[in-house]
Amino acid sequence: MKIAGKVEMDDLPRICPLLSRRTNPRYGEAQTRVVQVGLMRFGGERPVVIAGPCAVESREQTLEVARAVKGSGADMLRGGAYKPRTSPHDFQGLGLEGLKILREAAKETGLPVVTEVMDPRLVEQVAEYADMLQIGSRNMQNYPLLTEAGRSHKPILLKRGMAASLCEWLGAAEYIANEGNMEIVLCERGIKAYPSGEYSRYSLDLSVITAVRAETFLPVIVDPSHATGVATMVEPASRAAIEFGAQGLIIEVASDRLDAERPKCDAAQAISPRTLRRIIHFIEVRQEQFAEKAHAA
Ligand code: PEP
Ligand code: MN
Repeated sequence: MKIAGKVEMDDLPRICPLLSRRTNPRYGEAQTRVVQVGLMRFGGERPVVIAGPCAVESREQTLEVARAVKGSGADMLRGGAYKPRTSPHDFQGLGLEGLKILREAAKETGLPVVTEVMDPRLVEQVAEYADMLQIGSRNMQNYPLLTEAGRSHKPILLKRGMAASLCEWLGAAEYIANEGNMEIVLCERGIKAYPSGEYSRYSLDLSVITAVRAETFLPVIVDPSHATGVATMVEPASRAAIEFGAQGLIIEVASDRLDAERPKCDAAQAISPRTLRRIIHFIEVRQEQFAEKAHAA
């Protein structure tokens, strides 16, 4: 029996003819479409590491963290100027002022910047300051937002809805592609599963990386910070994601100055610049091992 509204893997060619390998065989069975942001190539030779604060809280905090993640070897900067918060009484982000701070941090460090856009009416504004637009988990199925983001022709980082199936996630990406924008990077950020919230924030679904890479040619990265919600789990989760074939990571980092203010948002999952450096070192070592193996084969 076919249940109305339920989408299954067999429906993929109908749901996303532009993005499914089955209906768009241009990239063959294994090749990834490279999405370029500045000099960074998602789906290119090596995983791309995006790092930065959860939210832009001040100019001083953002510049400090931006310089620190650059020093640790990150490729791109992240930071929210518009924040999706559970309570309207929580810090909502600095908005336009936050975007200007991000641009300044990007200019100073040379790191391209990705930031979230939540409102279709703000796509143009955010696109003016960001190198890549992030569509967050809570908005993965906000179809007018996806359409507007597609029209912007900016590269898009599309996070997986926290309860979305693979088909729903790829269907959301198809909305962007349908506007003629194929510059899409997918991001697994943890899903709500039975034990979620008991010992970690969400459940990191590493198996989906394999499925994404089989079903579509879009690059896929992992967010170990929101997936686990626990700083000590971010490093092992990052390593595991790389082993599973993730083509990048997006990680939340905070200042490790003893007198630095704790982040207003997601403090428990923020890692130090030193831990970030170790994660990047792990990626470099793994890349060398992959290259040696490929050479020997
Ligand atoms: C974020 O990356 O800032 C964020 C809010 O993530 P998510 O949409 O995955 O919860
Ligand atoms: Mn966060």
